[in-house]
Amino acid sequence: MTSVALQHHSMLIGGRDVDTERHREIVDPSNGDTVATVAHGNAGHVDDAVAAARATFESGVWRHRTPQERAAVMRRIVAAANDAAEELVELELSANGATVRQATGFHIGYALAHFSYFADLAETYAWQRPAPITSFPALGQAVVHREPIGVVGAIAPWNFPLLLTLWKVGPALAAGNSVVVKPDEHTPLSILAFARIAEANGLPPGVLNVVTGDGPDAGARLAGHPDVGKIAFTGSTAVGREIMRLAAGTVKQVTLELGGKGPSIVLDDADLDLAVDGVLYGCFVYSGQICESGTRALVPALLHDEFVSRLVARATTITMGPTRDWDTDMGPVINGRQQSRILDHIRAAVAEGAVVALGGEALDQPGFWVTPTILTGVRNAMRIAREEVFGPVLVVIPYADEDEAAAIANDSEYGLAASIWSSDNTRALELAERIACGSVWINDAHQINCQVPFGGYKQSGLGRELGPDALDAYTETKTVHLDLSGGRPPKPYDILLSHADDGENP
Ligand code: NAD
Repeated sequence: MTSVALQHHSMLIGGRDVDTERHREIVDPSNGDTVATVAHGNAGHVDDAVAAARATFESGVWRHRTPQERAAVMRRIVAAANDAAEELVELELSANGATVRQATGFHIGYALAHFSYFADLAETYAWQRPAPITSFPALGQAVVHREPIGVVGAIAPWNFPLLLTLWKVGPALAAGNSVVVKPDEHTPLSILAFARIAEANGLPPGVLNVVTGDGPDAGARLAGHPDVGKIAFTGSTAVGREIMRLAAGTVKQVTLELGGKGPSIVLDDADLDLAVDGVLYGCFVYSGQICESGTRALVPALLHDEFVSRLVARATTITMGPTRDWDTDMGPVINGRQQSRILDHIRAAVAEGAVVALGGEALDQPGFWVTPTILTGVRNAMRIAREEVFGPVLVVIPYADEDEAAAIANDSEYGLAASIWSSDNTRALELAERIACGSVWINDAHQINCQVPFGGYKQSGLGRELGPDALDAYTETKTVHLDLSGGRPPKPYDILLSHADDGENP
């Protein structure tokens, strides 16, 4: 596997490598080692990147290519990125602590597959859609055009740095926009590498720019920049609110993918072996650092004790170890701050009456490790059931009947995803209709299918990513009306004037 030890990465602005005097260290969360340094950009670099993106957009060098030509370039980029997949995996896991299995399949595998989907979408999307010719009044022909917006800003989190960035860059490029990416401070390496691969494989310089810098400085400038037409953000709900506020100044289009507190609802007819594995997978994969994780297990009161003992027995088999070891199930959490926050959450839950059935500890070794934690004695009103912990912490909440299960599931300010575990598909489908969230998985978890929309109800987000309509969010709509009457009446103003002559319509 390629070593990235202490390699320095500059930014990519207008096709040029741009460095800064100050550098930021990138730390491997699995051992605390510094693995690389990156340029520390600021709001001024964002201004430069937006200017470069705007100039490239105006030049037409990308947007005036046909959708087929753009798709062909995007496919060349995917092929080259696939050739570099091992390096991308190492860049990703060395900065965010994913295990090699997760980073290969989920982080990089999905990222490239989904980018490829957007190339396909460019070719099938209805860029121009004729509207029916209206017969009365004779208004002629209308054609609805979808056009690129201009400069798109993409602000990404650290948990899936490349995947969640390409969910934005993919449709933005497919539509002909130019893009400025502001990656998370911890994890800029994979998108910087991807952007360089893109330029080396046919993407004109300045179409995809990457500015590495802090959120409140570089990120805020991008969200508020007057020359950015759309901002796409994934991250915490608190920052999402701030992005909306900043974008309001110039009435930008906004897409937000925010936090979650997903319920995993186990029905009394569930295959318990499947449900136990599914609930654990739903919560603990990637140490619970997935926005759509199922962090609240809702279990029939009559099955509660049996289910908890099965959960605990199975969870003890989850292996934690070196992230580059293919047998490791679970890696560290992202940093020391987050590790302390997770442990504080667990302590506060215990103070409120929760019981630790498993885990609840940090590992005494370099890096930032928290053991898989299962808490019982939790009520949905407790902080641990309401706030997003973003760590390997599962709470188990008993319910009396299905009505109560649905009520608890929906009693949350979030609404991103839920899972339902049942051997009766009809019953599970009926329950799915009652759950207020953007994705419901029946007998599965974390099913991210790029061909269907993904996003949240309530404070989990605004708009949707993925799916056939994803390009709508990266385009403007223009309706062009063409008069087909040859200038002969009746026209609306003739009708209006004749009414006015009658004195009926002053
Ligand atoms: P975060 O909100 O702290 O940071 C996300 C990004 O926003 C980073 O790039 C950061 O630099 C930037 N940022 C921070 N402050 C900013 C500001 N004032 N203006 C502009 N940009 C700013 O979130 P995080 O810690 O990176 O990610 C964890 C959170 O993200 C969790 O709450 C999680 O649920 C959520 N998340 C949601 C999804 C989803 O698809 N819904 C996916 C992943 C993560």
